[in-house]
Parts: sequence; structure tokens; C-alpha cells
Amino acid sequence: MNEWKNRVCVHVDSIKDRLLAVSQDIFDHPELKFEEVHAAQVLADELRKDGFSVELGVAGLDTAIVAIHPEASDGPTMAILGEYDALPEIGHACGHNLIAASALGACLALGEIKSELPGKLVFMGTPAEEGGGGKVIMIEAGLFDGVDAAMMFHPSSHTVVDRGSLAITEVKIEFTGKPAHASASPEKGINALDAVIQTFNGLNALRQHIKDGARIHGIITNGGAKPNIVPEAAAAEFYVRAPENDYRDELLEKLRRCAEGAALATGATLSFEIFGHAYKAMKPNRTLGEAFTKNLEMLGEPLNPPPADAGLGSTDMGDVSQALPAIHAYIQICDEKVAGHSREFAQASASERGRAVMLIAAKALAMTAIDLFTEPETMRRAKEEFANTA
Ligand SMILES: [Zn+2]
Repeated sequence: MNEWKNRVCVHVDSIKDRLLAVSQDIFDHPELKFEEVHAAQVLADELRKDGFSVELGVAGLDTAIVAIHPEASDGPTMAILGEYDALPEIGHACGHNLIAASALGACLALGEIKSELPGKLVFMGTPAEEGGGGKVIMIEAGLFDGVDAAMMFHPSSHTVVDRGSLAITEVKIEFTGKPAHASASPEKGINALDAVIQTFNGLNALRQHIKDGARIHGIITNGGAKPNIVPEAAAAEFYVRAPENDYRDELLEKLRRCAEGAALATGATLSFEIFGHAYKAMKPNRTLGEAFTKNLEMLGEPLNPPPADAGLGSTDMGDVSQALPAIHAYIQICDEKVAGHSREFAQASASERGRAVMLIAAKALAMTAIDLFTEPETMRRAKEEFANTA
């Protein structure tokens, strides 16, 4: 391990208690997307303590952060990203408290040696990964302009650095029918709930004919008011996901046809609305991934990838990876059987192992940033790969 890498590791260990306190504090105060006021404040305060120039509230988002280390010179701009939103009811069941603390740890450790390194170091606090698309909004606001590479760690039940993610679009479907007494005069009504059910039936018939790896899943959010009233209004929400952005768009149109067919069959009127932020599929940068993997191995953390046919999720880091070279590295914090977004995963995010992994992630992120700050050839290859990969 070179001298700089050694020093960032020693520094992470020396601020271990501070990082663990931040992780626990965020874990103990779970906040939903765009409401991460406490977490964002804690992170901003910690960064300010170490001399970062911190902007809290950027891109029109109260809980987004851009923090720049004052020692900036010519050379690459490296962004290390922290997420900190939680999930409804199950809290930090995606372990974003560990992501935030690891990104903070990496930045504080790099800050210690930044005067000796070329380039610019940026901590990006990216809110609302769980369905709000904070990173998408920050990209649109130009906050990633001029950033050469972006990295983050995500806790998982496996360790894998260059994993993809699914492109996703969220859809809201509403049908309007006509109420009538469901027993005395059903012939006078138009049943909006039937239109929703027909949409699901059409979609279920479609499933046989979609490519492996794609996912379309939904819930009924309004199924009517009372059994003795023909439902006037009914609604459902769907997530449409695929490994490629184009195929996701194709499936979206097929879902639209299912809903249009249901409207035609029942006589209900359809409103088909794309809502929230669509996320692009992850384009993992192998050059950055290799550097990160080597550093992980140096830290004694071996890869443990999931089986090739394991399912994928979606993340707004996908959008970052389509805009610049990026990695979203998973490190195992729990048994392989534990599912993400579960109560067990939330427990793991505050466990001894989760805490230890957060420190390893902070070190590996800082070490990989050192590679990119100090090896122009690695950065050149990362950019070349980015330009040549679809
Ligand atoms: Zn997550």
C-alpha cells in the first residue's frame, strides 16, 4: 500500500467513533425522501468542522449538499456520493446511513492529505434515492458538470463492484367510470375497478412475451368506495423496469396499451401518467471498478458476487453513470439470504458487521480517489471506456 493510501486508512481509523456516531444518528432518525433535514445537517456540520466549504440546499433541494475541499488545484474532480433517505415504516432498511457515513469518512480522510494531491474533492449529498431521484435533479441542475468521476458504496448481501441496475419508470393509472347502485341498477354504471383489473390481466398475459430480467409490478391504490356502488374511480401504480433504457420505454408503451384496452372494454376513461423520476440503467465503469476492487482486496474484503441470474434493483446512480464515469460498489453486510428493504436488512445496517463494512468502504473509496487523483492514465482509461460504452 502506498504512503497516501496508508495515511487515509489510519485517518479513517482515528475518526472511527465520529463516523460510527454519524451512522447511528442517521439510523436512529429515519427520514423519508426529500425530508432528510436532520441527516443533511449532521453531514454538513461534520464537513464544515474539517474545513470543507459546504452548501446545504442546492438544485432547489433543501437536503442536497455540495461540499468542496478548499485545497483544490488543476487535475481531476472526484465526487464521492452519500445517500441518507430511509423507507416508510421500515426505516433504514436500505442502509443509507452507512452510505452517508462512508462517504463522509472517505472525504474527511482525503481532506487530511488533499494539499499533496492534485485536483478537486467534492462530497455530494444526494437526497431521495428511494423514488425521488435527487441525483437526477442534481444532474439537471448542472452540479455534476466538470466532475470527472463519481463513486459510492452501497451495503448489500453480496460484495460486487461492477453490477448493473434496471432502468425504471413509475406510472400512475386512473380510470373514471360512472357510479350506480351495484345491485339495483348495475347496467347504468361503468366500473372503473374492472378497468384496473383488466389492466392487470392484460399485463399478466404480456409477461410470457417479455425479455428475461425485465420487471413490471403494481399495486391497486384505489379500488372503489363500497361494494354497493359501482366504482366510479379506481387507480393503480406500476413500476416498469428493464436492463436497458430503450426496452424499459418499449414496455411502458405495452403497459399503456393494456390500460387503453381495458378502458375500451369497460367504457371507463383512462389517465396514464408517468410520475416521479425515471432512473436510467447503471453503466458501471470497469476501470474504476478494477481500481476499487484492488483496494478492497488490499483491505482484506474479497468479492462475493451474487449468482448471474440474481435480480437487480434500480438507483438514480444509474443516471450519474450515464453522465460520467461512475461506480456503485456493493459490500456485504449480512447473510446472503437477507433481502434488501427488509426489517432484517435494517438490523444489519446498525450491526457490528455493518459498522465495520462502513469503515472499509470509507477506506476503499478514499484509496480509489487517490488512484484517480495521482494516476492520469487510470483516469484517461476510465473516460475512454465511458465514451466507448453504450
Ligand atoms: Zn439503497
